[in-house]
Amino acid sequence: MYDYCIIGGGVIGTAVARELSRFDVKTVLVEAENDVCVKASGANSAVIHSGYDPLTGSLKAKYNVQGYKVFARYCEELDVPYKKTGTLTLATNEEENRTLKNLLKRGKANGAEGLKILNREQALKLEPNLADVVTSALYSPEAGIVNPFELVYAQRENAENNGVKFIFNFIVKKSSFGDGITLTSSDGKIVTARSVINCAGEAGGDIARLLGDFHPIKYAKGEYALFDKAPVVSRPCFPTPDEKGKGIAVAPTLSGNFFVGPTSVKTEKCDTTFDKETYQKLLRHSAKLIKNVGSVRMLTTYVGLRANAMSGDFIIEKGRNNGVYHVIGISSPGLTSAPAIATELVRSFGLRLSAKFTPKRSRIKRLANCSTEDKNALIIKNKAYGNIICRCECVSEAEIVEAIRRGARDIAGIKKRLRASMGKCQGCFCSHKITAILEREMEDL
Ligand SMILES: Cc1cc2nc3c(=O)[nH]c(=O)nc-3n(C[C@H](O)[C@H](O)[C@H](O)COP(=O)(O)OP(=O)(O)OC[C@H]3O[C@@H](n4cnc5c(N)ncnc54)[C@H](O)[C@@H]3O)c2cc1C
Repeated sequence: MYDYCIIGGGVIGTAVARELSRFDVKTVLVEAENDVCVKASGANSAVIHSGYDPLTGSLKAKYNVQGYKVFARYCEELDVPYKKTGTLTLATNEEENRTLKNLLKRGKANGAEGLKILNREQALKLEPNLADVVTSALYSPEAGIVNPFELVYAQRENAENNGVKFIFNFIVKKSSFGDGITLTSSDGKIVTARSVINCAGEAGGDIARLLGDFHPIKYAKGEYALFDKAPVVSRPCFPTPDEKGKGIAVAPTLSGNFFVGPTSVKTEKCDTTFDKETYQKLLRHSAKLIKNVGSVRMLTTYVGLRANAMSGDFIIEKGRNNGVYHVIGISSPGLTSAPAIATELVRSFGLRLSAKFTPKRSRIKRLANCSTEDKNALIIKNKAYGNIICRCECVSEAEIVEAIRRGARDIAGIKKRLRASMGKCQGCFCSHKITAILEREMEDL
C-alpha cells in the first residue's frame, strides 16, 4: 500500500509529488493521460504574478505572494527557464486610472513588493510599442515569465528520481474505503493508499464526488493566438482588469515569441475549441494596448480551460473521509502558487525527512543554445546530435531520444519539451520524422 496517491499530473499534482519526495513516504501519482502537463498547466499565460489582483485575505492572494517570492530559487534548483520581466497593467482613461490605484493598494495589502504607478512617458520607456490611448500603468517589477512545460516536467523528473511512482493512462473512475483508499481506473487497474490528494484540475469536482465530497466546478476557456518571434513587448502587458478577470494581454514567451490572450468565455468541461471570430477579437483587443501586433505572423492558436470553484477562491482542504485532501479550483494564479501550495500542504502532514532526497535536476541540453565548439563536441560524442530533425528550432535526433527517455510519448510531449515542431513551419517538415523516432524508441518500453 502507498502512503499517498496524488490524482492528476498538472503543475499542482507534480509539485505535491516533488514535495512529498523530500520525506520518508511511499508516493504514487496517477494521471489519466500518457504524460504530465497535458491540460491547464500546459495552456496558460506562463506569468509569475506578483499578487496585486487576488482579493485580500483569499487563498489566491496568500499563495500567489508566497509563490512568487520563492519562484526564482525554485526554478534555479530545478533548472527551469524563468525571467523576472515585471508586468505592466495599462489604463486608458480616468476610471481605469482609479482602478489601478485601488490595485496598487490591494497589492500592498497582499504583500506584493515594488508596485508603482507610472505615467505614460515612464511606461513608454519600458514598452515603446504602447498604444497612443494608454495614459498610465501599474508596474509590477517582481513578476516574471516561466516555461510552464519545463516546470511541470522538472517537478515530475525530480519527484521520480526521488522515488515517486508515476502511473499513466490511469483514469480514476471509482473509489472505495476500507484498509486504505482504493482507486480503480476505467480499465480495472487498482491503486491503494492511506491518503489520496485530489489535484485533478478540470475533473476536480468529479473526483471530489467519488471521494465523498461536493465541490462543483465552473469553467471558462481562455483562447490565445501565438505569434512568430518578434520584439513587440518585453514583459506581459495587461489591460485594466474587470469582473471577468485580468483581460486579454500581449505577452512575450521565453523563446522570443509573443501571444495575445486569454479570452474568458464561460463554457463546459473539456471545451478547448477556438472559433473563427476569436482571432479578430484578440487582434482588436491587443490593438487597444500595443501597436504592431497585426504586422507579425500568427503561428497558431491554443486554448486553456480555467477550473474555477464557485467561491472564486482555491479549494485546499481535507475531505469528509479520513485521508482525503482536495487541491482543486486552482485557476490563475495557480502556476505561480504551485510551489507554495505544495510546501504548505505537505508540511501540514508532519512527515519525517528522507536522507536520500536530491533537490536538483537538469534540463535536456539544447543544441540550439550551444556554441559551435560545444555543438561539434556533442556530435563527436554522439552522431545523433548531427541529425537535425526540426530545422526551425534546431532540434536534433539525440535530444528527441533524450526527451522520450524522460517520458515524452507523443509529438505533443516532444514539442513541449524541446520546441520541435513549434517553429515557423509548425511541424510540416519534422512531424513524420519525430513519429518515426517515437515508434523506434518506444518499441522496447
Ligand atoms: C487560460 C489560463 C491562463 C492562465 N494563466 C496563468 C498565469 O499566467 N499565471 C498563473 O500563475 N496561473 C495561470 N493559470 C492557472 C494555471 O494554469 C492553473 O492554475 C494550473 O495549471 C492548474 O493546475 P492543475 O494541476 O490544478 O490542473 P491541470 O493542469 O489541469 O492538471 C490536472 C490533471 O489531472 C488529470 N486528471 C483529470 N481527471 C483525472 C482522472 N479521472 N484520473 C486521473 N487523472 C485525472 C488531468 O489529465 C490533468 O493532467 C492560467 C490558467 C488558464 C486556463
